[in-house]
Amino acid sequence: MDREKKARLKFWGVRGSIPTPESNKLHIGGNTPCTELRTADNDIMVFDAGTGIINLGNSIIRKGLTSQGIHLFLSHFHWDHIQGLPFFKPIYRSESRITIYSSQEPEQTRRMLEAQMSTPFFPVDFKNLPARITVRKLRSTLVRVGGARVLPFSLNHPQGATGFRIETNQSTIVFATDHEPGVEEIDQNLRSLSRDADILIADTHFSPEDYQSAKGWGHGTWKEAVDVCQSSAVGQLFLFHHNPAYSDDTVRSMLNDARKEFRSTKIAREGTAIEIG
Ligand SMILES: [Zn+2]
Ligand SMILES: [Zn+2]
Repeated sequence: MDREKKARLKFWGVRGSIPTPESNKLHIGGNTPCTELRTADNDIMVFDAGTGIINLGNSIIRKGLTSQGIHLFLSHFHWDHIQGLPFFKPIYRSESRITIYSSQEPEQTRRMLEAQMSTPFFPVDFKNLPARITVRKLRSTLVRVGGARVLPFSLNHPQGATGFRIETNQSTIVFATDHEPGVEEIDQNLRSLSRDADILIADTHFSPEDYQSAKGWGHGTWKEAVDVCQSSAVGQLFLFHHNPAYSDDTVRSMLNDARKEFRSTKIAREGTAIEIG
Protein backbone atom coordinates (compact mmCIF):
# COMPACT_ATOMS: atom_id res chain seq x y z
CA MET A 1 0.00 0.00 0.00
CA ASP A 2 1.29 3.47 -0.86
CA ARG A 3 2.34 5.43 2.12
CA GLU A 4 0.98 8.96 2.02
CA LYS A 5 3.71 11.21 0.62
CA LYS A 6 5.11 13.76 3.00
CA ALA A 7 7.11 16.95 2.65
CA ARG A 8 10.64 16.89 4.05
CA LEU A 9 12.72 19.67 5.51
CA LYS A 10 16.48 19.23 5.57
CA PHE A 11 19.20 21.42 7.04
CA TRP A 12 22.32 21.41 4.84
CA GLY A 13 23.98 24.41 6.51
CA VAL A 14 23.10 26.06 9.82
CA ARG A 15 26.11 28.20 10.78
CA GLY A 16 26.02 31.99 10.54
CA SER A 17 28.66 34.31 9.06
CA ILE A 18 31.55 31.89 8.30
CA PRO A 19 32.01 28.13 8.03
CA THR A 20 33.37 26.51 11.20
CA PRO A 21 35.23 23.28 10.39
CA GLU A 22 36.30 22.89 14.02
CA SER A 23 35.89 19.69 15.98
CA ASN A 24 33.98 21.25 18.89
CA LYS A 25 31.38 22.70 16.48
CA LEU A 26 30.79 19.82 14.09
CA HIS A 27 28.03 18.00 15.92
CA ILE A 28 25.77 20.95 15.12
CA GLY A 29 27.55 21.70 11.86
CA GLY A 30 30.04 24.02 10.18
CA ASN A 31 28.45 24.95 6.84
CA THR A 32 26.77 28.30 6.28
CA PRO A 33 22.98 28.55 5.70
CA CYS A 34 21.13 26.31 3.29
CA THR A 35 17.77 24.69 4.01
CA GLU A 36 15.88 22.45 1.62
CA LEU A 37 12.16 21.82 1.52
CA ARG A 38 11.26 18.87 -0.67
CA THR A 39 7.51 18.94 -1.17
CA ALA A 40 5.32 15.85 -1.27
CA ASP A 41 5.30 16.31 -5.08
CA ASN A 42 9.13 16.22 -5.05
CA ASP A 43 9.66 19.90 -5.91
CA ILE A 44 13.08 21.06 -4.71
CA MET A 45 12.88 24.34 -2.82
CA VAL A 46 16.10 25.74 -1.40
CA PHE A 47 16.46 28.61 1.02
CA ASP A 48 19.87 30.31 0.78
CA ALA A 49 23.09 29.23 -0.88
CA GLY A 50 25.66 29.16 1.90
CA THR A 51 28.30 26.42 1.82
CA GLY A 52 25.64 23.88 2.83
CA ILE A 53 24.29 24.03 -0.72
CA ILE A 54 27.42 22.21 -1.97
CA ASN A 55 26.40 18.91 -0.35
CA LEU A 56 22.81 19.44 -1.47
CA GLY A 57 24.08 19.84 -5.06
CA ASN A 58 26.08 16.64 -4.81
CA SER A 59 23.00 14.82 -3.58
CA ILE A 60 20.86 16.21 -6.43
CA ILE A 61 23.46 15.03 -8.98
CA ARG A 62 23.78 11.61 -7.34
CA LYS A 63 20.03 11.09 -7.45
CA GLY A 64 19.72 12.36 -11.04
CA LEU A 65 17.30 15.12 -10.08
CA THR A 66 18.87 18.06 -11.95
CA SER A 67 16.27 18.30 -14.68
CA GLN A 68 13.22 18.45 -12.46
CA GLY A 69 13.62 22.10 -11.45
CA ILE A 70 15.37 23.71 -8.52
CA HIS A 71 13.83 26.78 -6.86
CA LEU A 72 16.42 28.80 -4.92
CA PHE A 73 15.17 31.57 -2.63
CA LEU A 74 17.82 34.03 -1.40
CA SER A 75 17.10 35.83 1.87
CA HIS A 76 19.79 38.40 1.00
CA PHE A 77 23.27 38.64 -0.50
CA HIS A 78 25.56 38.64 2.50
CA TRP A 79 28.48 36.38 1.81
CA ASP A 80 27.39 33.53 4.09
CA HIS A 81 24.12 33.16 2.12
CA ILE A 82 25.58 32.97 -1.40
CA GLN A 83 29.14 31.68 -1.07
CA GLY A 84 28.24 28.05 -1.82
CA LEU A 85 26.66 28.83 -5.19
CA PRO A 86 29.89 28.70 -7.27
CA PHE A 87 30.40 25.12 -6.00
CA PHE A 88 26.79 23.98 -6.47
CA LYS A 89 27.30 21.34 -9.16
CA PRO A 90 23.86 21.56 -10.82
CA ILE A 91 24.83 25.00 -12.24
CA TYR A 92 27.38 23.17 -14.44
CA ARG A 93 24.80 20.80 -15.97
CA SER A 94 22.99 21.88 -19.11
CA GLU A 95 19.90 19.90 -18.12
CA SER A 96 19.48 21.88 -14.87
CA ARG A 97 16.55 24.26 -14.60
CA ILE A 98 17.21 26.69 -11.77
CA THR A 99 15.00 29.60 -10.72
CA ILE A 100 16.56 32.12 -8.34
CA TYR A 101 14.26 34.41 -6.34
CA SER A 102 15.29 37.50 -4.38
CA SER A 103 13.81 40.82 -3.31
CA GLN A 104 15.96 42.64 -5.92
CA GLU A 105 15.22 43.36 -9.55
CA PRO A 106 16.40 40.41 -11.71
CA GLU A 107 19.22 42.46 -13.33
CA GLN A 108 20.46 43.47 -9.89
CA THR A 109 20.38 39.86 -8.62
CA ARG A 110 22.32 38.76 -11.69
CA ARG A 111 24.86 41.54 -11.16
CA MET A 112 25.50 40.48 -7.59
CA LEU A 113 25.86 36.80 -8.42
CA GLU A 114 28.07 37.66 -11.41
CA ALA A 115 30.30 39.73 -9.12
CA GLN A 116 31.24 36.75 -6.95
CA MET A 117 31.82 34.57 -10.03
CA SER A 118 34.11 36.73 -12.12
CA THR A 119 37.82 37.47 -12.55
CA PRO A 120 39.82 37.45 -10.28
CA PHE A 121 37.55 35.87 -7.69
CA PHE A 122 36.48 32.73 -9.51
CA PRO A 123 37.61 30.98 -12.70
CA VAL A 124 34.14 30.34 -14.17
CA ASP A 125 31.98 33.26 -15.20
CA PHE A 126 28.37 33.23 -13.95
CA LYS A 127 27.28 34.42 -17.42
CA ASN A 128 28.70 31.30 -19.07
CA LEU A 129 27.11 28.64 -16.87
CA PRO A 130 25.55 25.73 -18.76
CA ALA A 131 22.43 25.50 -16.57
CA ARG A 132 19.32 27.37 -17.60
CA ILE A 133 19.00 29.96 -14.84
CA THR A 134 15.94 32.18 -14.52
CA VAL A 135 15.94 35.06 -12.04
CA ARG A 136 12.75 36.41 -10.50
CA LYS A 137 11.99 39.31 -8.23
CA LEU A 138 9.93 38.50 -5.15
CA ARG A 139 7.05 40.86 -4.62
CA SER A 140 4.80 40.88 -1.61
CA THR A 141 2.63 38.23 -3.21
CA LEU A 142 2.57 34.46 -3.14
CA VAL A 143 4.96 32.45 -5.29
CA ARG A 144 3.70 29.01 -6.21
CA VAL A 145 6.07 26.09 -6.57
CA GLY A 146 4.11 22.97 -7.41
CA GLY A 147 1.69 22.54 -4.54
CA ALA A 148 3.60 24.89 -2.22
CA ARG A 149 3.02 28.59 -1.67
CA VAL A 150 5.75 30.99 -0.54
CA LEU A 151 5.01 34.40 0.91
CA PRO A 152 8.07 36.69 1.24
CA PHE A 153 8.28 39.38 3.91
CA SER A 154 10.82 41.92 5.18
CA LEU A 155 13.17 41.36 8.08
CA ASN A 156 15.30 43.85 10.01
CA HIS A 157 18.91 43.41 8.92
CA PRO A 158 21.70 45.67 7.61
CA GLN A 159 21.01 46.10 3.84
CA GLY A 160 17.75 44.18 4.32
CA ALA A 161 16.77 40.51 4.31
CA THR A 162 13.69 38.56 3.31
CA GLY A 163 11.84 35.98 5.39
CA PHE A 164 9.51 33.36 3.95
CA ARG A 165 6.23 31.81 5.06
CA ILE A 166 5.96 28.51 3.20
CA GLU A 167 2.70 26.64 3.07
CA THR A 168 2.45 23.12 1.74
CA ASN A 169 -0.76 21.12 1.72
CA GLN A 170 0.39 19.51 4.95
CA SER A 171 2.08 22.24 6.95
CA THR A 172 3.39 25.78 7.35
CA ILE A 173 7.01 26.71 7.91
CA VAL A 174 8.33 30.19 8.62
CA PHE A 175 11.94 30.85 7.76
CA ALA A 176 13.25 34.06 9.36
CA THR A 177 17.00 34.63 9.14
CA ASP A 178 18.85 37.10 9.28
CA HIS A 179 16.76 39.20 11.62
CA GLU A 180 17.17 41.49 14.61
CA PRO A 181 13.95 42.19 16.51
CA GLY A 182 13.27 45.76 17.59
CA VAL A 183 11.41 47.41 14.70
CA GLU A 184 7.78 47.29 15.79
CA GLU A 185 6.18 47.04 12.36
CA ILE A 186 8.50 44.24 11.19
CA ASP A 187 8.14 42.36 14.48
CA GLN A 188 4.34 42.56 14.30
CA ASN A 189 4.38 41.29 10.74
CA LEU A 190 6.62 38.35 11.70
CA ARG A 191 4.21 37.51 14.52
CA SER A 192 1.17 37.59 12.31
CA LEU A 193 2.84 35.57 9.54
CA SER A 194 4.01 33.02 12.13
CA ARG A 195 0.45 32.54 13.40
CA ASP A 196 -0.25 28.79 13.81
CA ALA A 197 2.86 27.80 11.84
CA ASP A 198 4.10 24.27 12.48
CA ILE A 199 7.74 25.34 12.44
CA LEU A 200 9.65 28.60 12.92
CA ILE A 201 13.30 28.61 11.85
CA ALA A 202 14.71 31.67 13.58
CA ASP A 203 17.92 33.66 13.73
CA THR A 204 19.26 32.96 17.23
CA HIS A 205 22.84 34.02 16.55
CA PHE A 206 23.45 35.56 19.96
CA SER A 207 22.86 34.49 23.53
CA PRO A 208 20.82 37.17 25.36
CA GLU A 209 24.00 38.13 27.26
CA ASP A 210 26.22 38.49 24.17
CA TYR A 211 23.48 40.40 22.35
CA GLN A 212 23.94 43.32 24.74
CA SER A 213 27.21 44.23 23.03
CA ALA A 214 26.01 43.37 19.51
CA LYS A 215 22.96 45.58 19.05
CA GLY A 216 22.47 46.75 15.47
CA TRP A 217 24.40 43.81 13.99
CA GLY A 218 21.19 42.39 12.57
CA HIS A 219 20.78 39.18 14.56
CA GLY A 220 18.51 37.94 17.32
CA THR A 221 18.38 35.69 20.37
CA TRP A 222 16.39 32.62 21.40
CA LYS A 223 14.40 34.77 23.83
CA GLU A 224 12.71 36.79 21.10
CA ALA A 225 12.21 33.70 18.95
CA VAL A 226 10.50 31.95 21.89
CA ASP A 227 8.36 35.03 22.34
CA VAL A 228 7.18 34.83 18.70
CA CYS A 229 6.37 31.13 19.12
CA GLN A 230 4.37 31.72 22.30
CA SER A 231 2.42 34.70 21.03
CA SER A 232 1.71 33.13 17.61
CA ALA A 233 0.95 29.53 18.65
CA VAL A 234 3.86 28.09 16.66
CA GLY A 235 4.36 24.32 16.97
CA GLN A 236 8.15 24.00 16.99
CA LEU A 237 11.10 26.37 17.11
CA PHE A 238 14.44 25.65 15.43
CA LEU A 239 17.42 27.70 16.60
CA PHE A 240 19.35 28.66 13.46
CA HIS A 241 22.27 30.79 12.11
CA HIS A 242 24.49 29.64 14.95
CA ASN A 243 27.23 32.02 16.01
CA PRO A 244 30.58 30.82 14.57
CA ALA A 245 32.23 31.46 17.93
CA TYR A 246 29.86 29.09 19.77
CA SER A 247 30.81 25.47 20.39
CA ASP A 248 28.29 22.62 20.37
CA ASP A 249 28.16 22.89 24.17
CA THR A 250 27.41 26.61 24.08
CA VAL A 251 24.53 26.15 21.63
CA ARG A 252 23.23 23.22 23.71
CA SER A 253 23.19 25.35 26.83
CA MET A 254 21.19 27.98 24.92
CA LEU A 255 18.81 25.19 23.93
CA ASN A 256 18.36 24.23 27.58
CA ASP A 257 17.58 27.82 28.51
CA ALA A 258 15.10 28.16 25.64
CA ARG A 259 13.36 24.87 26.51
CA LYS A 260 12.60 26.11 30.01
CA GLU A 261 10.35 28.69 28.37
CA PHE A 262 9.26 26.82 25.22
CA ARG A 263 9.55 23.06 25.36
CA SER A 264 9.26 22.44 21.63
CA THR A 265 12.60 24.07 20.85
CA LYS A 266 15.26 22.25 18.84
CA ILE A 267 18.66 23.02 17.38
CA ALA A 268 18.78 23.18 13.59
CA ARG A 269 21.57 20.68 13.01
CA GLU A 270 23.38 20.08 9.71
CA GLY A 271 22.22 16.88 8.02
CA THR A 272 18.97 16.61 9.98
CA ALA A 273 15.85 15.88 7.95
CA ILE A 274 12.34 16.23 9.31
CA GLU A 275 9.25 14.72 7.76
CA ILE A 276 6.36 17.11 8.01
CA GLY A 277 2.63 16.74 7.65
ZN1 LIG B 1 23.89 35.44 7.72
ZN1 LIG C 1 23.21 38.79 6.80
